[in-house]
This record gives sequence, structure tokens and C-alpha cells, in this order.
Amino acid sequence: MALFQLIQLLLLSTGESVAPLPEFCEVSAVGAGWAGVYFAFRQALTGKKVCIFEGTDRIGGRTYSHRMDIGDETFTLDVGAYRFSPDMHLPGDVIKLLGFKTACYEPNCPPASQEFPEPFHFNYTAPLRRIVDAEGMPAGYVTAIRGMLDQILASGGQLFMEANLTDVQALHSQEVRLVFDTRAVLTKSVLLNLPRAPFLSLQSLRSDLPERTVQMANCVKFDVPTKFFPPGSFTLGKSLTKAYAYYADAWWHNHLNQTVGQWPENAFEPVNTSEGIPIGIHWNDGPVRCNAPLQGCRGFLEVFYSTTNEDFFEDLRPSDLQPLGILKGKAAEAKLQRLHAAVMEATKPLFQKKSVAQPKEPPSMLVVGVWDRTGHGFTAPTKVYYSKDETTPGGPDPLEKACGVPGLTDKEYRDSLLFPHPDHKQIMLANNDWVAQPVEKMFGDWAEESLLQAERALHGSGLGRPAWLDEDYYNRKVLGIAEGDIVTMV
Ligand SMILES: Cc1cc2nc3c(=O)[nH]c(=O)nc-3n(C[C@H](O)[C@H](O)[C@H](O)COP(=O)(O)OP(=O)(O)OC[C@H]3O[C@@H](n4cnc5c(N)ncnc54)[C@H](O)[C@@H]3O)c2cc1C
Repeated sequence: MALFQLIQLLLLSTGESVAPLPEFCEVSAVGAGWAGVYFAFRQALTGKKVCIFEGTDRIGGRTYSHRMDIGDETFTLDVGAYRFSPDMHLPGDVIKLLGFKTACYEPNCPPASQEFPEPFHFNYTAPLRRIVDAEGMPAGYVTAIRGMLDQILASGGQLFMEANLTDVQALHSQEVRLVFDTRAVLTKSVLLNLPRAPFLSLQSLRSDLPERTVQMANCVKFDVPTKFFPPGSFTLGKSLTKAYAYYADAWWHNHLNQTVGQWPENAFEPVNTSEGIPIGIHWNDGPVRCNAPLQGCRGFLEVFYSTTNEDFFEDLRPSDLQPLGILKGKAAEAKLQRLHAAVMEATKPLFQKKSVAQPKEPPSMLVVGVWDRTGHGFTAPTKVYYSKDETTPGGPDPLEKACGVPGLTDKEYRDSLLFPHPDHKQIMLANNDWVAQPVEKMFGDWAEESLLQAERALHGSGLGRPAWLDEDYYNRKVLGIAEGDIVTMV
């Protein structure tokens, strides 16, 4: 291993490096989210020396695993993406290949489809899982991305942090100039793992694209047909937010024996409390450590995960672009006390049922992940969820109407954004944002969508199926997609 790679590996294990940019890189990926790192990983496995450029000081993008030490114990919270079904061979087969230990997300391992009752169509059976450490504690979903990165670096690839792409110039020589503020890197091919806003801000590339492609890229939609979502049953709020409260006395384990499922039954629709703080609990989501089963437990409780409009959790984010917020210390006591009052109000029936006194001690910390759905930030995924349903307010809204692009089909949307430049197929685009599908088949946001785009881009650039990736899955979802198909169809 060259000295440079060794230094990078060492820096990666302690924090990310900020290295000077190279003048040339044969194969590049911009963005160290799932798709960017996977693209580079696949290239690295074929012996290519790849460069990954990440705009921030953190890898993972919307997969955000935050590790923290409390006393002499470490807890990892996934404030963004956190789970997968092995039936999603992407990422399932990558996680298997890398040898990470996983465990069922729900302790009773229900089929994945059961977690998505009608109106969702979630065509996966294998129970949802998450990556765990040797102790069986959640290790954080970014573990898989880091695992791919370690292999990329070990095979001679390079990772450049805080390399914020500001423009892309497609050159006559068929090379591509990647501009990072005042610095530039020439490359022969690049996968842009960019969400909508940063992609659309690349002025030179944008001016090269057909107006039709720009219209597609600008299109964001969330149709809400009343047949599937009766009036008032669903409102899309200002953010998609998760919140975790740390209790030194994990009362849901220690006193209630409540370690599975949600409260209320669908925690995504939380209970409103007199504190003005909505509460929706997922008992098994947060990491908890116990001295013995259900004894002496301490840890994090997921007290909110929803798009419901609220300010209490949302106000804790440092900015539109920074989802992670932490509330703790002396100045936070009054807020944590209010949060505790709200949690106790919401869970009162459970304590009453078991004739157990409610704990008085508030949580000592609150950690939030706020994924913005407004303004310039838009860190939450943005997609085109169009509706073919008659009961949609304003009538059916097929893709061409939803985006105002006459004759637009799912296939054209998918192909045009995967290779957005008409003359430079070596510029590829893959991200969770570049999905158009009927809202009637809505099932949420999954890394699988980005990975399939990356795999289709690899196929388009001549790289076939790797032996470890399920053949049937590859044939259906990478090669076999036909007009009208959506990626979840099996
Ligand atoms: C709260 C929440 C929960 C979720 N739960 C799940 C789940 O359980 N399972 C699941 O599979 N999916 C889940 N998702 C969706 C999941 O997060 C995404 O599918 C996945 O992380 C997206 O990966 P991506 O490849 O699209 O890239 P992204 O995560 O969008 O990463 C893009 C990367 O590009 C970088 N970047 C942006 N602009 C620039 C620039 N100009 N220059 C350089 N770099 C740039 C970003 O910093 C980022 O690192 C969830 C999402 C959220 C928000």
C-alpha cells in the first residue's frame, strides 16, 4: 500500500482528511453518499484508481450515523437512513459481501411488507435489518459506506473531503472538468451523486442540457390522492425529523417491559400533547444498554419520527443544511423538562395499565436529525410522486402533467437524468432525488433507489454484473426495467 493511501486510511479512522486536489483523475465520483461510494467501489473492484470528492466534512449524506460517548459507553444514532431488507440486493448483497453483522430491526422480525400496510406497496418480504456491532448494538448504517470506502482506499483510490463541486464543464476532448470553487480536476468519467439543488446549481452543465431535461430535473411533486390518503390523514410538513431522548433510567425497559413496536400504533402520526410537542415513540429504535435483560437499562428513546409540522425538535438544527442538533447541559434543562412532560403525557395510559408510577427524572439529552423540506436546504429527499388516481384534487396527474413535460414517461425521466448530458455519456447522475413514480405505490425513500441508478450507470458504461450481486435481481431491476416499471416491482 502506498504511503498516501496509508495516511488516508489512518485519517479516515480518526476523522476525515482534507487533501489537496489532484489535477487529473481517471474515474471520479462526486458525493460520498451511498451511490457515489458504491460507484467508486465497483470501479475499484475492477482495478480502477478512483477519486471521490465530498463537499462536506462527513461521509454518508442522508445516511448519518452519529456516535457519542456517554460515560464510558458509546452509542450510535442513525439520524437519517437506518435499515434495509436483504431482498433489496442493493444494498443487501454489498453488506453481505463486506461481512457486516446485522440484526432484525424489529426484534420479532416481521416480514418487511407488514411494516407498510395499505396504501403502501412494499414488495419485500425479508425482515428489515440494520447493521450491528459485535455486541449486537446498532453500529450505524454508515458502517457499510465506510466499509466500501476502506476497500477503495486500500486499492489505491482517494477520498477528498470538503471538495464542494461548483461547476461541471463537458470538454470537446470528451474529458470533463470538475470545478471545486477555485480548483479544477480533469476526469474521464464522473458519477454525480448529487441531490437536486446542488445538481441544478452547476451552471455550465445546466446550460448544456436540453430544456426538457432541465424541466425534469426541476420537477418536484407530492400528489395526495384522497382515495389513498383521506382528507386530513396526511400533511407533508416542513421537515422529516427524528428525535432521540437519552434517559439514564430507560423506563420503557426497566419499568414497562415495552421494547417492541410503536406508540401510538402508527408513531408516524404522533400524539399531540398540551406542551405543544408531538410524541410518536418507536420503542426498539434507539440504542439501549442493560446490565441484565430489562434491568439497569439506559439509552436513547426515539420520541419522534415524522413529517408532522412542529417547531420544538426542528428548532434544534443548526441550519437548513445541517440536520444534526443536540440539546444538553444546564441551559437545556427547561426544554428537556418540557419534553419529559410531553412524553409522560403521551404514555400515561401505558403506565396506568401496568399500575406503575411515571419516572420524574427528565432525559439528559435530546438528539435530532432534521431533514429540511423547504428553502434552499432541502436536505430531505425530493421526488416526483405523481398520481393516476381520479380522486386526486384537480384530477389525475400523470407524470407528463405533473412535470409539465408533454409525453414524459417514467423511462424517459429515468434515462434522461441518469445520463443528463446528451453528448457526454461519461457524466452520470445518481441520487435518491431522481425518482419519479406513482404515489399509489409510494413506499418511502431507500438507498436502493440510488444504488440501482449507480448500477445502471455502470452498466451503461460497460461494466457487467458482479458475481456477488443476485442475478435475478440484477436482470429484473438493472437490465429488465421496461416502460411503466418502477424499481419496487417484483
Ligand atoms: C430520515 C431519513 C430516513 C431514511 N431511512 C432510510 C432507511 O432506513 N433505509 C434506506 O435505504 N434509506 C433511507 N432513507 C433514504 C436514504 O437516506 C437515502 O436513500 C440514501 O442515503 C441516499 O443516498 P444517495 O446516494 O442518494 O446520496 P445522498 O445521501 O443524497 O448523498 C449525497 C452526497 O453528496 C454530497 N454533496 C452534495 N452536494 C455536493 C457538492 N456540490 N459537491 C460535493 N459533494 C456534494 C453530500 O454532502 C452527500 O454526502 C432515509 C432518509 C431520511 C432523510
